Amino acid sequence: MSDRITAMSDESVFTKIISREIEARIVAENDRIIAFEDIAPQAQCHVLVVPKTTEYATVEELAAGDPVLLAEMVALARPIALERGNGDFRLVFNNGEKAGQTVFHVHMHVLSGPELSEGNIA
Ligand code: 5GP
Repeated sequence: MSDRITAMSDESVFTKIISREIEARIVAENDRIIAFEDIAPQAQCHVLVVPKTTEYATVEELAAGDPVLLAEMVALARPIALERGNGDFRLVFNNGEKAGQTVFHVHMHVLSGPELSEGNIA
């Protein structure tokens, strides 16, 4: 427990989206994962892929605890980018406050679109 960045809060914004307390534009969902449009998109396609479990705050914790779930999240990126962007995509996991992480419920940004070829989106 000592290396965990923070204890997960059941009240994160993503938990509220999963429970439908907060509305979001959901683009994919199964029993383990939900994907929805980012509220502040940085590209034509900017989708957040979020595991439903509240157990993991960061991708490092997820990779150590459930690598299959991480692989399932990555597998959603291509179909999302094909449907909503140009087919190619960038995956971003912000890890820690100093890297810009604001929600401590692990999530993967899927970015796709013409903005990415300019190279100015992290
Ligand atoms: P982070 O900065 O933690 O990597 O990413 C959190 C992301 O969640 C941000 O890109 C932010 O725009 C998005 N976000 C925050 N609150 C909401 C919300 O209520 N709805 C949706 N759809 N996205 C949100």
